[in-house]
Amino acid sequence: MTTSYDIWLILLSLLALGSAILVAFRAGISSRQAHIDIGHIGYKDALTKLPNRHAFQYQLEAAAKRCTRAGNTIALAYIDLDHFKPINDNFGHHVGDIILISVARRLQAAVRGCDSVARLGGDEFVVLFEEIKSKEDITPIVERIISSFREPFLIDRHQIEMSCSIGIALYPYDGDIEKLMINADAAMYKAKEDGRNQFKFFDSEIESETDSLLEMQYDLLAAIENNQFSLAFQPKVDSKTRLLVGAEALIRWNHPTKGIILPREFIPVAEHFGFINQINGWVIEEACRAICRAKVQGIDLNLSVNLSRQQFRNTFLVEETVKWLNQYDVPTQNLTFEIKETAAIKNEAQFRLLLAKFKAANIKIALDDFGLHPFTLTYLQNLEVDELKLDRIFISKIDQDKASKALIDAVIRLAHALNLNVVAEGVETEAQLDLLTELGCNHLQGYLFSEPVSEDQLFMQFKQLEIHFEATGPSVVSDYQEA
Ligand code: C2E
Ligand code: CA
Ligand code: CA
Repeated sequence: MTTSYDIWLILLSLLALGSAILVAFRAGISSRQAHIDIGHIGYKDALTKLPNRHAFQYQLEAAAKRCTRAGNTIALAYIDLDHFKPINDNFGHHVGDIILISVARRLQAAVRGCDSVARLGGDEFVVLFEEIKSKEDITPIVERIISSFREPFLIDRHQIEMSCSIGIALYPYDGDIEKLMINADAAMYKAKEDGRNQFKFFDSEIESETDSLLEMQYDLLAAIENNQFSLAFQPKVDSKTRLLVGAEALIRWNHPTKGIILPREFIPVAEHFGFINQINGWVIEEACRAICRAKVQGIDLNLSVNLSRQQFRNTFLVEETVKWLNQYDVPTQNLTFEIKETAAIKNEAQFRLLLAKFKAANIKIALDDFGLHPFTLTYLQNLEVDELKLDRIFISKIDQDKASKALIDAVIRLAHALNLNVVAEGVETEAQLDLLTELGCNHLQGYLFSEPVSEDQLFMQFKQLEIHFEATGPSVVSDYQEA
């Protein structure tokens, strides 16, 4: 199922592409001569012999002028092959190249004589439709393009299935000529999101999604400038003693008009626009300050902080962290960084490098969201992390079937054999609590104990509620928050 997080990611990618296209488009216009020879080598894609991006920009602008004079419509179809990268990876680049050449031929065969096909680069093609009156005029042509992919591609005795996703924008209805490519691209991403192998016309819904993303970009800049962030803290409990052992710091954005915005909504946007290092730098420093303030109140606070994948590239991350630890007089053992398992896998080389630096600085690393995606137990063996955080979805099955319980049992045993601390997150029921305790899971975190709370509430819990919890047994959130 596509989550809103996935949708954000898709939208982010499309905006990145859109911006790149806009830049390329502007560059193309400014450097363009009055006339170009499409047959000229500089305007031809070397592989497919189709017009390249430069040539296409020229064609598009010339067509727009004709269209304005004649008072009719042109349409731009942005075509992206579905799952092309694995073809290159699995069969080699020469097979990928042959497919691109065949795709170029199929596209040319599917369109009319008056339409122009071009290759923008990679597995992206465009078609310019002139002399059209409405969407209905191009629908059969685009359907022909989609069905031209039905025949598998036969290359080197491989039979390769392929499909494409198409987004279409109309000029002048969907915006000026500069926005045409961006809008067609946005529609193409919608086609991908809706399951690929189909086409989508640009519409007001796609427009408002793109607009709201841009709005968030501006708002985030203001949020950084005006420090609109705060930290919430979700307590962690020791499964045996049921005492508080620490907390996870979770960022909140206190938007001046929209209220509290949760990290799932803005972190991917911040990552995309390159703001994450600033935001998470603030999180790390604020976490150090909180540990320092806790110490003043006699609390030895262990805090976990989430790291983003983009931060792996920050070569000063460890140095900056050590600087803050020193500045606020925080012992390294009081801070743990949580890194999502997917981020660790996707950037394994960078991750290992970072792990080594954190190890040298004596800072602990937890592997977050473990069990959310398929994994191998041997993978764990080779990662030198300190803690394993079992994902909420993974542990939610523990009381539902025997196999899930056995799997969690195996993971906890292996983690313990490797000397890792195991934390279960998202513990919501007493049945989960009992089973996780029985399996020896070290620490527990979830709504059963407490939702994320403010710093003051956290300190209160530390001061007053450990005994309360011990005396009354497993408790509900309200018990904690009232006190
Ligand atoms: P996460 O690291 O997996 O954090 C756990 C999320 O699950 C938190 O959501 C928490 O409020 C929620 N949660 C905790 N217990 C339960 C439970 O019992 N049931 C359910 N259904 N949910 C529970 P939150 O605060 O919205 O954070 C979402 C994600 O945003 C986090 O997932 C983390 O990946 C990211 N995040 C939060 N703070 C930061 C930050 O400072 N930097 C970065 N890069 N990411 C952050
Ligand atoms: Ca986390
Ligand atoms: Ca998690």
